[in-house]
Amino acid sequence: MGLGLYLHVPFCKARCSFCAFYLQIYREDRTRSFLNSLRHEIDLHVTLNSLNRRPLHTVYFGGGTPTTLSSNELSSVLEQIRHLFELQEHAEVTLEAHPNTVTEDGLRSLVHAGFNRISFGVQSMDAAELVRIGRRTPPHAAGIAVEAARSAGFVNINLDLIYGLPGQTMESWRSTLEETIDLQPTHLSCYALTLEEGTKLQRDHREGHGDEPDASATRSRTTVGPGTPADTISFTGAAKNTLG
Ligand code: SF4
Repeated sequence: MGLGLYLHVPFCKARCSFCAFYLQIYREDRTRSFLNSLRHEIDLHVTLNSLNRRPLHTVYFGGGTPTTLSSNELSSVLEQIRHLFELQEHAEVTLEAHPNTVTEDGLRSLVHAGFNRISFGVQSMDAAELVRIGRRTPPHAAGIAVEAARSAGFVNINLDLIYGLPGQTMESWRSTLEETIDLQPTHLSCYALTLEEGTKLQRDHREGHGDEPDASATRSRTTVGPGTPADTISFTGAAKNTLG
């Protein structure tokens, strides 16, 4: 049976206010030493034969925001993996991305390198909600990024959303869902916000500064049914461990 390989890229341009994941703010000198260590660790797994010669059926670059690294850097890591390990035919090779860290040319070279699935952290299509969670990206950036990915050759595109955001209403959540579905992703993942210890959002909430979500927006899984252009919509009551 094939194995899944996960690589964690712990850099982001800024920290979102709900995010408690381990990460470092992107700096070029940090990425250089990280990449050296990552390449060294991949070599070590070959030396130790820790995969026991089993082929890979998925490779997943998550974070953090893997696309803070350049396309060349990401491609060279994938090339090393392809060179040293066996990938099954039609292996799924995923890259997590933040919409404002991609260009069509960069994405094209990533497709050329062998990435065949991309997952964008969209989170919301509402400008005020994005500001409240510390995302500096305007809502239309998601559409631009999806279009660029499609033009570059990505067919398999996942989009992540979060529900239960501060100040979110049923109406704004519905609009976010509709606008995201209009982008025709192959998969849409919807995560419930959790207030994680140590985050700005949790501090604001504790001090009474945060906006509460409309309670009905947190029960919204009943509002989406089959027949949408996205192939699959997944809801989960827990925040996932990586959101780009
Ligand atoms: S949610 Fe994603 S982009 Fe935001 S800080 Fe966390 S890992 Fe980085």
